[in-house]
Amino acid sequence: MKLDVRVLRYMSSEEFRVLTAVEMGSKNHVIVPTSLIAQIAGLRHGGVNKILGELAKKKLVAKVKNSMYDGYRLTYGGYDYLALKTFSRRGSIYSIGKQIGVGKESDVYLVADEEEIQSVLKIHRLGRVSFRAIKAQRDYLQNRKTASWLYMSRLAAMKEYAFMKILHEHGFPVPKPIDQSRHCVLMELIDAFPLREVIEVKNPGKLYSDLMDLIVRLASYGLIHGDFNEFNILLKEDGEPVLIDFPQMVSISHPNAEWYFNRDIECIRTFFRKRFGYESVLYPKFNLDVNREFNLDVQVAASGFTKQQQEELEGKNARESVKGEDIISGDANIANESVIQNVTKDAKSETEEAKSETEEDPESDLEQLNNRDYMAHR
Ligand code: ADP
Ligand code: MG
Repeated sequence: MKLDVRVLRYMSSEEFRVLTAVEMGSKNHVIVPTSLIAQIAGLRHGGVNKILGELAKKKLVAKVKNSMYDGYRLTYGGYDYLALKTFSRRGSIYSIGKQIGVGKESDVYLVADEEEIQSVLKIHRLGRVSFRAIKAQRDYLQNRKTASWLYMSRLAAMKEYAFMKILHEHGFPVPKPIDQSRHCVLMELIDAFPLREVIEVKNPGKLYSDLMDLIVRLASYGLIHGDFNEFNILLKEDGEPVLIDFPQMVSISHPNAEWYFNRDIECIRTFFRKRFGYESVLYPKFNLDVNREFNLDVQVAASGFTKQQQEELEGKNARESVKGEDIISGDANIANESVIQNVTKDAKSETEEAKSETEEDPESDLEQLNNRDYMAHR
């Protein structure tokens, strides 16, 4: 999934209005009925159809016919667009540069604000891997899948931002989080190489113990990284490590905490042995070395990423381990994701509901769009 920057430049305000309406309708429908889109957008039906056609051409929405009704779903392209638009309006992003990372479930870009201060944009793309596997599936399954993956990607971004923020505030070596919208996180650019690409270090023993100390210190704050490896550790020129990639962090109160903790330790031990020929008999033990002193795991839940959201995200992880089966039934239990749900619901109350549930800040474009005067006086 490429980020198509060209699309960003050529969009009329009406197109944006309709795209926003599709997003709002997506809160309750995987496939948003065209009539509902028209209603939310406050445009005539004929007008909406034409604009939806334009948006579909740009791959920001996709037309879906199913047995119940015709409608549209938001694509990753459309979701990208909406997030970028929000960042741009907030002044967080002015220009987009090259892609610096392609993970299994994310795309990472270099971006800059108007003062040309560079930062890193991480776009979460959950489901990309398993999505390919269901390409051959029937349309409506594909579409259900996409919509719920957008939602899961948003949860991953919210989680990553919340953890990065709290870790940064407590002096951990992580990028400074800058902004978050939908499935995107904006953060400080770290001028460093992933440890994975580092062939030699001056003092492997020092780095090894720094990393082990970091794992123990995180645990003393109540947290386990969960993916603590050479890909997620950036090494600065001065030899200081910086930790990235937080969507899988777990609390040390998690039932499998010790297992996650040991796995993080083992990743580092294995890497140091293979890469630097360095081995130490010393490494932290969960029961001996971890003394909980702070509760960042609890704090983060209070700071905007709720326990319920955490569970929804974990639900996805749990399902992933049931190979194959999740492809068809996996997302059935995600809130608001039923294809036929609400079709008959009174459109007016639904429009209100969709509007009231928008996630962005009060000054958002969405609010602006909801203001009829805005349309009338344009
Ligand atoms: P994924 O979840 O796909 O593994 P990561 O957060 O690990 O995503 O980022 C992928 C890659 O992007 C990293 O290995 C690193 O090379 C680069 N990267 C991510 N964040 C930053 C950052 N803040 N500064 C510099 N490079 C980064
Ligand atoms: Mg990573």
